[in-house]
Amino acid sequence: MEKTIIKDKFDRPLRDLRISVIDRCNFRCQYCMPADQFGDDFEFLPKSALLTYEEIERVAKAFVSVGVEKIRLTGGEPLLRRDLPILVKKLSEIDGLKDIALTTNGVLLPKLADKLKEAGLKRVNISLDTLDDELFGTINGRGVGTKPVLDGIEAAKKAGLRVKINMVVKKGLNDSEIIPMADFCLKNGLELRFIEYMDVGSSNGWKMDDVITKKQIYNMLKEHYQLESLDPAYFGEVAKLYNYTNTDVNVGFISSVSESFCSSCTRSRLSANGQIFTCLFNGNGHDIRNFMRNGATDEELRNRITDIWNGRNDRYSDERTEETARTRKKIEMSYIGG
Ligand code: SAM
Ligand code: SF4
Ligand code: SF4
Repeated sequence: MEKTIIKDKFDRPLRDLRISVIDRCNFRCQYCMPADQFGDDFEFLPKSALLTYEEIERVAKAFVSVGVEKIRLTGGEPLLRRDLPILVKKLSEIDGLKDIALTTNGVLLPKLADKLKEAGLKRVNISLDTLDDELFGTINGRGVGTKPVLDGIEAAKKAGLRVKINMVVKKGLNDSEIIPMADFCLKNGLELRFIEYMDVGSSNGWKMDDVITKKQIYNMLKEHYQLESLDPAYFGEVAKLYNYTNTDVNVGFISSVSESFCSSCTRSRLSANGQIFTCLFNGNGHDIRNFMRNGATDEELRNRITDIWNGRNDRYSDERTEETARTRKKIEMSYIGG
């Protein structure tokens, strides 16, 4: 298929696609899927509602044909989806796709890291918000200590995957872990990304007051380390990166709340049940699953993606207030995966 570049209403090209492969998770992180709202009786999607790997591959090819160069697999917890390496292999064979990544809580990496690497995965982001076992158990809502995640990090490194660590920082919860996490990652040659706590979905009870900003974290780091600012490597790079002077280790910030980056947002999302979202904070997606199941051709699929992207005018983080955080209907993180 011929490759074209499509742009939205603010002239932003479509470059990245995040695919949520499953809405279930073995954790109940309090900032994402709070245990009191995602209990044992919570109805996750039935298997028939999930896109099959063949369907995901088809949509991915259509996205690549209109400019997508990077795909990130996410969830829920993506490693819970059976035979994920089969999907990675299919995606890694798509002509024109430059990068495939995965975001995971890491627990299943000891079992899967080698297979994922063999299938063509190059890198992985592993979420870890603290090194303190008790606090981690409270955050993940399942009482799980850090060891399974630390083992996952080791397994990924051993398999030859590039590893970055994601840490969501919430005031009063884990801000005391900023320096210990920075120390740990620096010593182990891991790039740490501090993520500002966001008002995703409508179940995490977000308040602006709970956010520790990039600037606050940066100031804390400056008391301990010498940092050099790095230029963005490409248009739309989400993380602001710094280098620890005289090392080859970087540290990054995803400042989605305090310094929004909507003007260069090139990212689209595909939910586990086959809806396209053009912003993390959309309430409704655009169905693509039934469109395909009802017999759409490849050309129709590509045209639909083009129409959706051409009509995009999202800039939620530029407009966010306490009021929008409370009242706007937004899709849950487990559906579209951050
Ligand atoms: N289960 C996988 C994991 O935790 O890495 C993948 C899905 S998770 C939704 C993707 C990323 O979103 C994780 O790094 C997680 O920490 C982050 N995240 C979840 N809720 C968030 C929130 N309220 N604010 C900021 N980041 C959040
Ligand atoms: Fe699960 Fe990831 Fe959400 Fe935690 S952040 S509940 S691991 S999907
Ligand atoms: Fe992109 Fe929406 Fe986030 Fe803005 S708020 S950066 S448009 S996903």
